[in-house]
Amino acid sequence: MSDQPAPDQPAPDRAPSEPTSYGFSTRALHVGQDPEPITGAVTVPVFQTSTFAQEAVGKHSGYEYARTGNPTRTALERAFASMEEAAFGVDFASGMAAEDAILRMLRPGDHIVMGNDAYGGTFRLISKVFAPMGITWSAHDLTDPQALAGAWPQNTKMVWAETPTNPLLTVIDIAAVAAVAHANDAILICDNTFATPYLQQPLAHGADIVVHSTTKYLGGHSDTVGGFAATNNAEFDTQLRFIQNSVGAVRGPWDVYLTLRGAKTLAVRMDRHNENAAAVVQLLQAHPAVSTVFYPGLPGHPGHEAAVRQMSGFGGMVSFRAAAGRDAAMKMIESTKLFILAESLGAVESLIEHPGVMTHASAEGSAFEVPDDLVRLSIGIEDEADILADLTQALNAIN
Ligand SMILES: *Cc1c(COP(=O)(O)O)cnc(C)c1O
Repeated sequence: MSDQPAPDQPAPDRAPSEPTSYGFSTRALHVGQDPEPITGAVTVPVFQTSTFAQEAVGKHSGYEYARTGNPTRTALERAFASMEEAAFGVDFASGMAAEDAILRMLRPGDHIVMGNDAYGGTFRLISKVFAPMGITWSAHDLTDPQALAGAWPQNTKMVWAETPTNPLLTVIDIAAVAAVAHANDAILICDNTFATPYLQQPLAHGADIVVHSTTKYLGGHSDTVGGFAATNNAEFDTQLRFIQNSVGAVRGPWDVYLTLRGAKTLAVRMDRHNENAAAVVQLLQAHPAVSTVFYPGLPGHPGHEAAVRQMSGFGGMVSFRAAAGRDAAMKMIESTKLFILAESLGAVESLIEHPGVMTHASAEGSAFEVPDDLVRLSIGIEDEADILADLTQALNAIN
């Protein structure tokens, strides 16, 4: 009985995603998305229902109550798990809801290690919500796995990595960090939001759970908030589903439908994001108003070699420091016409923001604080010439 407090049975329809020899885009379009059997509808319907009729007491289609499972959500979960080449996947109400469910696998006294430029929301969740409940944490430079191994904190059960990171685009060698975690009986969680499964599949490099904010590239159209967790470990999957069903961080089917629809074009969008970002990096490197450019595709980037090993493209996120400091960065951000000044990232339209004040304000005064002259760009899929022209005029305004 799914509306009762303690169901820990996985939904019976939840077979591991079918192994398939199809390529990435084909899987994104077809896995979990067979035509609907009654009408032949080609697109997965929005199953706008909270409950499901049962033939007899306890005899049902595999769906009982929509907090526990909904067919629209199942379709997304199968498709996205397949994109990550994972056996299991769970859709969540937001990226933070997915993170929260993963962190609830810890117990008081457990320690979590995170990267020293973790996403501000992750830092806040761990340090302000989980720490008061008895989870201890520490931040480390995960680009140096040997140093982490040498300074391994007692009772560490989980390592939380993000690669590339937000907003400094630091690259972490997933296989190397996974090896250190596993040697110490800990698991590795990898936030794959920036790279997407099209450019990077962390489970294949040894991560135990992959987490996404599907609000970003997977949805891709700035119209929904969502999260996703994928794993090959059946026990973790069961735990995550139990936590989700107990806590209730699920989405309605409309939002799920929009995210699934958005992800159908992930591969073609990412190709365009990659191309446009590469052109922007060239422009920024040549502009006197810019001091440092952060992009994993740059040969001089400290994580470039790891990025080449574990990514098939470098993505659409670019950050840079304004040579003339904070005020110049602010003025430049407010001078763009095409780039929209907004939080978030990974959508079709280009966005610009000031991480220090906007997305990473919760990190102020901590080791997670970012330079105040840092500008973050989410390069969209507009025409390259228009993107370059807008950035050029905005940079000229501060030069
Ligand atoms: C946005 C983001 C999150 C949080 O996801 P929400 O969907 O906003 O809850 C987590 N990690 C990264 C890297 C993000 O960019």
